[in-house]
Amino acid sequence: MEKYQVLLYYKFVTIDEPETFAQEHLKFCKDLELKGRILVAEEGINGTVSGTVEQTNKYMEAMHNDPRFADMMFKVDEADQHAFKKMHCRHRPELVTLRLGDEYVDPREENAEYLDPKAFYEEMQKEDTIILDTRNDYEYELGHFRGAINPDIETFRDLPEWIEEHREELEGKRVLMYCTGGIRCEKFSGWMKKKGFDDIAQLHGGIVTYGKDSEVQGELWDGQLYVFDERISVPVNRKEHVIVGRDYFDGEPCERYANCANPECNRQILCSEENEHKYMRGCSHECRVHPRNLYVAEHNLSEEEIQARLDRIAEEDGVTQEA
Ligand SMILES: [Zn+2]
Repeated sequence: MEKYQVLLYYKFVTIDEPETFAQEHLKFCKDLELKGRILVAEEGINGTVSGTVEQTNKYMEAMHNDPRFADMMFKVDEADQHAFKKMHCRHRPELVTLRLGDEYVDPREENAEYLDPKAFYEEMQKEDTIILDTRNDYEYELGHFRGAINPDIETFRDLPEWIEEHREELEGKRVLMYCTGGIRCEKFSGWMKKKGFDDIAQLHGGIVTYGKDSEVQGELWDGQLYVFDERISVPVNRKEHVIVGRDYFDGEPCERYANCANPECNRQILCSEENEHKYMRGCSHECRVHPRNLYVAEHNLSEEEIQARLDRIAEEDGVTQEA
């Protein structure tokens, strides 16, 4: 069987005429038969693509031959197949959307100290340090560093406001920031410094790099790492596996993802196979009885069967589940 690789990479570097670059880069990737998602902005490039080992190696080589990306760090995962269905390469005003306006801090100029996995591992265990997860709530829920603070944000754009609201907790402490591959911290840490947080550091290469480090082997990470491709989650801690994900319906430990069967909702939830059947993969009563519920179609449920399941839910869970 042919071996595949999934690449994750970014670089804050000036790209002139980013729109033209994005168009040409898309063609280049399609010619290589890669699949994935790439964002291009004046401030740089951020991408994740999959392909055969040969295709992805060619891509990395070509990128490294471009002086702008000569030192770009690629995180490489082995895979059995593509991790994406299509190839997209789009121009955006920002690589990661913060919309800071006048408060924009250029990551090419200002950034927090980088810590490699070993240093990050050691510092996490020191007193008077705060471990700050800069990712979104659903990513944190599947897995995070032990003891990390969860800002509980739905999107990255909400992080500056959370920081302002929690200034007192953070001030005077050493703040260790981390995200999936490092780009969010790199973008955000300059703003933190501008706002007067002097003692901050970021995990270089993010959680992905931490999980690959042969020395720390992902230690102090609990759960799984949420990734933005068809794999949905990948392991990090190679020494022990603690499940932190919780079943959406009953709160039991769970790392199995499903999308709500209401195509208009499509919400990603953690749930056991048993609960998927019980709740017809609907995250709410409305989603369960939605006329285009995909679970109902997949299992060819009759009106009577649907009603029987709704009755069972009502009987076992009471009215609280009907919200
Ligand atoms: Zn739903």
